[in-house]
Amino acid sequence: MGLAPFAAIPEFVQFDHTTTAINKNSTGVSFFWIIRITRDMPMQPEPPCTDFAPRRYRLTPRRHDGQADRRRTERELAIATQLGHFLLQYQPRVRLQDGRSHAAEALIRWPHRKQGMIPPAMFLPLAEESGQIVPIGAWVLRTACREARGWRQPWTVSVNVSPRQLVAGTLLRQLAAALEETGLPPERLELELPESHLVAADTDTLLTLSAVRDIGIGLALDDFGHGFASLAVLKRLPLTAMKLDRSLVRGLPADQEDAAIVRAVIAAGHALGLTVTAEGIETELQRDFLAGCGCDDGQGTLFSQPLPADQMPIRARS
Ligand code: C2E
Ligand code: MG
Ligand code: MG
Repeated sequence: MGLAPFAAIPEFVQFDHTTTAINKNSTGVSFFWIIRITRDMPMQPEPPCTDFAPRRYRLTPRRHDGQADRRRTERELAIATQLGHFLLQYQPRVRLQDGRSHAAEALIRWPHRKQGMIPPAMFLPLAEESGQIVPIGAWVLRTACREARGWRQPWTVSVNVSPRQLVAGTLLRQLAAALEETGLPPERLELELPESHLVAADTDTLLTLSAVRDIGIGLALDDFGHGFASLAVLKRLPLTAMKLDRSLVRGLPADQEDAAIVRAVIAAGHALGLTVTAEGIETELQRDFLAGCGCDDGQGTLFSQPLPADQMPIRARS
């Protein structure tokens, strides 16, 4: 069994307590790994298939009866989807020139009765495969618009969108419903589309994205630099913003090649009229370098972890 199936496991997982999360093997082969993640524990000797492991956590994979586990998780996810039993956390985005926040990205979590707070990389691939991502995406849009409508300052809210939402008018219907129901002005909403969705965007997708732009909603290319998107993709799409993947930010400012790439990409983004955000900023050196390159916005643990809605600094007074 190769390592690729586990590529979806995030490098950064924020848990307050020991918790367990499930990752489906994305090759479709029927087994699960149960991963125990313990905050601030030293790594155990490297178990098999864990080169994906976050350095700060101990992972203990165990092989289980895959089919049964998979069916149970699918059933639980279907119920959670019907009940809208998810949460959004919000990670503020900061203007690098003055350090002020003016936007926040909505990030879904699945609070599981036994397994604690499950991060998106552990269940969204399964939701994508089963099609449940469509109602989950609608829930995310509605909830993010409703919660942002209640903020005391008119920050933009960014919502991640899945490729399944882009087909056959689904996204436009979901957007119309969310904006109408919540009254959020479209200018305060931005959609984030990972570059992997957009490299081969077809005409229908381009028409959908243009319609989204016509409503006044922002469109950001997410995770730029993580995969294979070229600068030509930026030109072809009706984008308003791009987000530099944290893999480009990690080595800054010491890594000369990353530094050169980041400078060039920021300049290209600006030449195309896009706002550029750097993701995964964890140190002041990274922030200072990016600000010096003229990068507009930053997001990362240096500024804030993703926050529960009721801990947002601009939440509505109760
Ligand atoms: P993303 O959209 O690129 O979101 C940024 C991810 O980086 C988040 O992980 C965030 O918690 C993490 N992060 C933030 N600051 C730092 C940092 O300083 N260092 C590091 N190493 N990581 C940081 P999260 O919340 O686990 O989300 C992972 C991915 O899941 C997201 O990546 C997005 O692609 C997807 N996702 C999250 N929520 C949704 C959703 O509602 N719908 C869809 N379709 N996808 C979602
Ligand atoms: Mg995103
Ligand atoms: Mg991203």
